[in-house]
Amino acid sequence: MGATHLRAIKVRTGREGIEIVSRTRLKVNEKNPKAVCRIIARALEKAGGPGQTVGVAAAAQLSADSRMVLNSPNYGWRNFDFATMLEETLGTRVIVDNDINAAAVAEAEYGAGRGFKSVLTVLLGSGIGAGLVLDGNLYRGATGVAGEIGHVKIRGPRSRRCGCGQRGCLEAYVGGINLAARLREDLERGVDSSLQEMFRDDPSRISTALMEKAALSGDRYAKRIWGQVAGMLGDSLANAVTVLNPDVLILGGGGFLHCPHLRDHVGTRVKERALSACGLVLNVRTAELGDDAGALGAAFLADKEHGVKLKRRYV
Ligand SMILES: [Zn+2]
Repeated sequence: MGATHLRAIKVRTGREGIEIVSRTRLKVNEKNPKAVCRIIARALEKAGGPGQTVGVAAAAQLSADSRMVLNSPNYGWRNFDFATMLEETLGTRVIVDNDINAAAVAEAEYGAGRGFKSVLTVLLGSGIGAGLVLDGNLYRGATGVAGEIGHVKIRGPRSRRCGCGQRGCLEAYVGGINLAARLREDLERGVDSSLQEMFRDDPSRISTALMEKAALSGDRYAKRIWGQVAGMLGDSLANAVTVLNPDVLILGGGGFLHCPHLRDHVGTRVKERALSACGLVLNVRTAELGDDAGALGAAFLADKEHGVKLKRRYV
């Protein structure tokens, strides 16, 4: 479930592993929970029926048992038993999880982390989030919000405000929305940069990919900001690697996928800055499953809950 669209896949599991039987994508133009449940039902019908179990990956903060949506900024839902309402609509068992957790599970099982036991997946997009698969299991934490790396503090309490309400969070500096806002402020202040010409007429076109292009073309301002973003990301992820000691760090999401230079820079910096016993053995990889990751992870979690142990292969 994204902010404006939902993607449904039907999977079959067998000796070959997990196989995607069908895919469909529908626009979500409603915020009312019942209407959204009906859109999900329609998507599942288009994908070939709801199957034995349904897994949903949602960009939302969920309760520890993953039944309640505690906060979904995309839909404006708060403290609402989404899993039960969807089960009543579909007439089948429903498993809900956070979209980043689901993507992290899919990458660990079928993507860049397959074959490893401890996998840290970090997705950089409009915000930044992480999912932890530790010793082969998804780690949710005491209240279900483990992996919120966007809200580790990199600046003091008087610095830039983050969407979470606090100040100085990593996301306030490197998340796509906040980074674009920072650039707009600098351009309005008249900073000397080729970006002025590029975005003067339409500042909403600012993107991380264009930022990287400007930095590589030698624009001094873009180079400085890009170096800062890589440093902040590299050090924050190095700290996470030092604490968790994963086998693999997977970098994904549009911010990393469209900016190979940033990705390489961050990967190198993490290996250098993590405690050497963690950094030297760390594999840094790029996410492999793209737009399928969230839905595949949701399917995996739903099947696991249902008692089926899926084979680690994605066909
Ligand atoms: Zn924050």
